[in-house]
Amino acid sequence: MEKLAIFGGTPLRSTPISYGRQCIEQDDIDAVVATLRSDYLTCGPAVTELEAQICKATGAKYAVAVSNGTAALHIAAMAAGFGPGDEVIVSSITFAASSNCVLYCGAKPVFADIRPDTYNLNPEEVERLITPATKGIVAVDFTGQATELDALKAIARKHNLILIEDAAHAMGTKYKGQGVGSIADMTCFSFHPVKTVTSGEGGAVTTNDQQLYHKLLRLRSHGITRNPSEMKHPTDARWYNEQVELGFNYRMTDFQAALLSSQLKKLDRFSKRRKEIVKMYNRAFSQMPEIFVQREIPESDTTRHLYILRLNLEKLTCDRRQFFDALTAENIYCQVHYLPVYWHSYYESLGYEKGLCPQAEKLYNEIMSIPLFPAMTDADVEDVIRAVQKVVEYYRA
Ligand SMILES: *Cc1c(COP(=O)(O)O)cnc(C)c1O
Repeated sequence: MEKLAIFGGTPLRSTPISYGRQCIEQDDIDAVVATLRSDYLTCGPAVTELEAQICKATGAKYAVAVSNGTAALHIAAMAAGFGPGDEVIVSSITFAASSNCVLYCGAKPVFADIRPDTYNLNPEEVERLITPATKGIVAVDFTGQATELDALKAIARKHNLILIEDAAHAMGTKYKGQGVGSIADMTCFSFHPVKTVTSGEGGAVTTNDQQLYHKLLRLRSHGITRNPSEMKHPTDARWYNEQVELGFNYRMTDFQAALLSSQLKKLDRFSKRRKEIVKMYNRAFSQMPEIFVQREIPESDTTRHLYILRLNLEKLTCDRRQFFDALTAENIYCQVHYLPVYWHSYYESLGYEKGLCPQAEKLYNEIMSIPLFPAMTDADVEDVIRAVQKVVEYYRA
């Protein structure tokens, strides 16, 4: 058996590879530079053009570009009308921003458990948690796989709830042939560098509802409107604008928008490469009893953002921590997505206790995200597979 690097053996890779990385090419750089030389650095034509492109990519009627994915979730939760006394059901395995947006509005996140095989929200758990105070659902397309939108939409309709989809992982994914972004009441995207396409920092909300769209536009920019029909005291003065509610400055700059427009042109290529890598991983890991492969639902044509390596701990003599450290020493840099949100000490201080979502907690103890990004070569993918094999062989029960 080969000696693991963590015990003094030679690392499988001579240079580290990380779990995610942006792919910026010369034309992306050119697009940013051209915008820097233009008349507008913010609130200009690049943002408008980007929003049209997001609509085209997702099939949504309206898109509002914002400064980051968290801002997108915040204004979506506000537009949904969440407030004190309201409960909003949230996925338990996600980035904290999915539920922080509920707290920003003074409402209470209620964490629902995941399915043990897809890792997405279990709609039966959602239904079980509904009370007269429930106002909405924040469902996450975890790893990029679409959440069970038909079931969640049916629950939302039946109980008169707003469905917000956190699609930070899912740009490019389709559900039953329809773009993610065109299905829920509002869908939120993030364009952070590890996501499928990037603007550095950036986000967007999409919707098919015109009223929500106008509300989102206002919230992005201080709650100020230039539209007389939205004003309490309209005048025909050309300078006049009116703040009609409390909003924020969540605008995206034009050079960020130009970068993202350039990236979106490559979405199909990025998407195709991510799918190829996932296929290579699935083929290798489905042969290994020590590894569980995430179940894919047939409704989702998935552009995968994360590849979750899940350990079958009954077949290994190590725990996740030992496996993670061993892979790191082989120069395969992983990450864990995610701590169950309510395990964060802040949420603990709000009174949430361990044991709430057993499937989410079990998952957290068994997973790590391994490298997945479009610039990976087949040789990189082979390295990761061989490193996993090497560690599995060492710790095989
Ligand atoms: C990245 C991410 C966010 C937040 O996006 P930012 O652009 O970093 O603010 C929200 N939810 C999920 C699931 C994410 O992965």
